[in-house]
Amino acid sequence: MSHFETDAIRIASSKSNHKEHSAPLYLSSSFTFDSAEEARQMFADEIEGNIYSRYANPNSSDLIQKVCAAEGTEDGIATASGMAAMFGSIASLLQQGDHILASRSLFGSTHQLLTRVFPKWGITSTYGDISDTANWEKLVKPNTKMLFIETPSNPGLEIIDLEWAGKFAAAHNLILVVDNCFATPYLQQPAKWGAHIVTHSATKYIDGQGRVLGGLILGKQELIKEVQFFTRHTGPSISPFNAWILAKSMETLAVRMDRHCGNALKVAEYFEGNKEIEFVKYPFLPSHPQFELAKKQMSQGGGIITLTVKGGIQRAQRFIDGLQMISVTANLGDSRSIITHPASTTHSKLSEEERANVGITDGLVRLSVGLEHYEDIIQDVERALDTSK
Ligand SMILES: *Cc1c(COP(=O)(O)O)cnc(C)c1O
Repeated sequence: MSHFETDAIRIASSKSNHKEHSAPLYLSSSFTFDSAEEARQMFADEIEGNIYSRYANPNSSDLIQKVCAAEGTEDGIATASGMAAMFGSIASLLQQGDHILASRSLFGSTHQLLTRVFPKWGITSTYGDISDTANWEKLVKPNTKMLFIETPSNPGLEIIDLEWAGKFAAAHNLILVVDNCFATPYLQQPAKWGAHIVTHSATKYIDGQGRVLGGLILGKQELIKEVQFFTRHTGPSISPFNAWILAKSMETLAVRMDRHCGNALKVAEYFEGNKEIEFVKYPFLPSHPQFELAKKQMSQGGGIITLTVKGGIQRAQRFIDGLQMISVTANLGDSRSIITHPASTTHSKLSEEERANVGITDGLVRLSVGLEHYEDIIQDVERALDTSK
């Protein structure tokens, strides 16, 4: 099959002997062997099959196959959370003494991994400014082994040129890792541009309804083998239940993303025309500094908007408190619209200087545009802008 929607629905729906139409949930820690010889062969990797749910489970295998078809990657691993995927992709492929070159605008916990966790084991990182890629040559050291990027970034919505990143990684023999959480495979496929590893927080759009945590590490077979060895023996496995939910959600990713993107563009256009708004950023608004680049590598602009309301942090807080429908919570990619204040929540562990570097001002708010009718989202925002004056 070839179309995204068809593959996401029809590929890999495990069946038991009961001929159920919808994939069953396999709550089993281990799987039985027909004979001692079959057990030996499976442990020796001579034949394929399920052994133990820390290694693999039919539900996690379904999820991996669906997302691999969507991303155009060969193989993968599903993990308990997005951070387990970020950690696992780095910890399995690098070793003491290695160096990572990363884009500066990263998810808060990924930033903590690079600056505070991995240095404990002798893996160091340098950040590059993506508006200045011409100077990245100078940031490559003899021990640089990985290029780690996130595009669009959370919450700065910076767009990194994936074609450039693919070529740069190839020229310097670096493993290119792309966190594709914001775009999802429906809008952007980094492997097409040369990414060796694609990671996800499946908690966000892949779930899409704010129910379960999950992560994915996808890529070329030879690298995924290394990752599989690492996850098999360190145990960040996804639960079968979460994998089952996420595999089901893959079936509706395309229709959900179409609506998230359509709604977000309408809401972003509303903000752009409102004089109470100081600044609004959305990848598919022509005012986004990398609008052309976003259009080159993404099919639509995604569901996230960042903005600052005139009147600084106090006004931003009054604006958030004035919302009646939109939820105030730290998640994103949910069917329900969500507002977050990154400086005091998701990115509060960064120093003020670190936040300034990645464009998180005190007044910045992140809006994850949900699947409600866009007129109701705009009405809620409009009322909160009015009452917060
Ligand atoms: C949320 C998020 C993560 C972390 O994922 P969890 O599932 O919360 O562990 C990593 N990267 C990005 C871009 C995210 O938005």
